[in-house]
Amino acid sequence: MSVTKLLFTPGPLTTSRTVKEAMLRDLGSRDGEFLAIVSDIRERLLRLGCCSSPNYECVLMQGSGTFAIESVLSSVIPRDGKLLVLINGAYGRRIAQIARVNGIAVDVVEIPETREVTARDLAVHPGITHVAVVHCETTTGILNPIKEIGAAVSRAGASLIVDAMSSFGAVPLNVATCSIDYLVSSANKCIEGVPGFAFVLARREALVATEGFARSVSLDLLAQWMGLEKDGQFRFTPPTHVLLAFRQALLELEKEGGIEARAARYRENYRATVAGMRALGFEEYLHPRHQSYIITSFRYPDDPNFSFEEFYRRLNEKGCVIYPGKVSEGNCFRIGHIGQIFQSNVRDLLAAVRSTLYEMGIDLPQGVETGIADS
Ligand SMILES: *Cc1c(COP(=O)(O)O)cnc(C)c1O
Repeated sequence: MSVTKLLFTPGPLTTSRTVKEAMLRDLGSRDGEFLAIVSDIRERLLRLGCCSSPNYECVLMQGSGTFAIESVLSSVIPRDGKLLVLINGAYGRRIAQIARVNGIAVDVVEIPETREVTARDLAVHPGITHVAVVHCETTTGILNPIKEIGAAVSRAGASLIVDAMSSFGAVPLNVATCSIDYLVSSANKCIEGVPGFAFVLARREALVATEGFARSVSLDLLAQWMGLEKDGQFRFTPPTHVLLAFRQALLELEKEGGIEARAARYRENYRATVAGMRALGFEEYLHPRHQSYIITSFRYPDDPNFSFEEFYRRLNEKGCVIYPGKVSEGNCFRIGHIGQIFQSNVRDLLAAVRSTLYEMGIDLPQGVETGIADS
């Protein structure tokens, strides 16, 4: 039997029924209605990034978010270019790994996962042509100050690539005023679509100057954009159903009240989750000053009866899906605050955590009800 699960993860996320229902239709990849939807999606994404054509262009790319990151890195850096990656978590490290595999010269500045990357960490020396940084480092939930970094990168005459996978649609960001040349995000994070494609908001002047740089055919960003511009079509099979769902998700984001309203809902989810988890004896990995409302890393409880696998499995059986940690030091798990999650769902999660701790024989702080009927 299939059970409905609530996803408290970094993605894929819980989506609305209406987003899933939008997929109950087959459209051909050359269908006029489909092409109009693709064009509408591209325009709406630019608007969400506070930018517009012709200064900025939106390129949709098949695959998960990492595919679009790889598309940008492998397509926009010339053979004699050099990338600097500012790292404070696993997703930053992944950017450096992708660059290395693609034979791109890469330098890294790696700082502790417990603090933000700032412009002071930037060591743009001669030879660096591009700088990459993650907006919300989903490892911990920390938010890096993109505007400040963008200004410094721009002063140094380099190009800025931002992985905004887990923030775009929920954390306001003006792509143009932050001096971003390439911003990457995906369908199944804060826009609350289903997985299957990702997108790039690219500064047009930078993009058109990348002719001949691509190291891949399927991930060639410029060719993908030119294909979309020429006849509105993808070069290779588009994820038609996923795009239908995504368009519905964009309409629902607008109906909710846009980025600000979504941010407010996620912030409330975050507040209720952290307050409830603290009451159950859990501690966050990050100092609250650094913590965003996207996702939170919690330390394992200091109790010999705790095993993450068992904790995860028992929560999963109760319909609540959490996520393993990714921090390099310390044992953590993660709880996401994003997706179609509301206060009542957070209460359900906290009740499930409470009874799971009881089942596992983990001591609750004094005064906490076990949630098990007293009869
Ligand atoms: C989720 C995420 C990714 C990777 O996305 P996939 O869709 O799993 O490929 C990359 N960067 C960040 C910051 C993310 O949160």
